[in-house]
Amino acid sequence: MAYTYDPQNIFARILRGEIPNKTVAETAHTLVFHDINPHAPVHVLAIPKGPYVNFDHFAAEASVEEIVDFHRTVASVIADLGLAGEAGYRAITNAGMSGMQEVPHYHLHILGGRVLGRLVG
Ligand code: 5GP
Repeated sequence: MAYTYDPQNIFARILRGEIPNKTVAETAHTLVFHDINPHAPVHVLAIPKGPYVNFDHFAAEASVEEIVDFHRTVASVIADLGLAGEAGYRAITNAGMSGMQEVPHYHLHILGGRVLGRLVG
């Protein structure tokens, strides 16, 4: 599968510092920041710094180091935000047309802070 990455997408611009964001955590390979239009009391977005359009692109082409860094950073943010364990959260990603992905840079939504309801299509 050949993936085409648009370097002008909004998250690429955030990563270049062209657009401000409210950062929650940052490592060499990962940025976590507050969603501009939150759907829950906690709604953050985790993105790899590399140019991956969606989950399957990231999983197929990122290095093991990037993949481990991304997931460990997300887990640590989940703990820091008080969502780990009993409280709980939802981690979700949208891809492509069917997933109604808006920003073509892989991102994981992490939602919590209220009962989220059943996931429906
Ligand atoms: P998608 O529909 O692609 O899964 O989600 C894109 C998310 O990015 C949406 O929840 C939207 O609110 C968020 N978003 C779009 N533009 C910006 C922005 O400029 N800054 C931040 N922090 N979030 C954004």
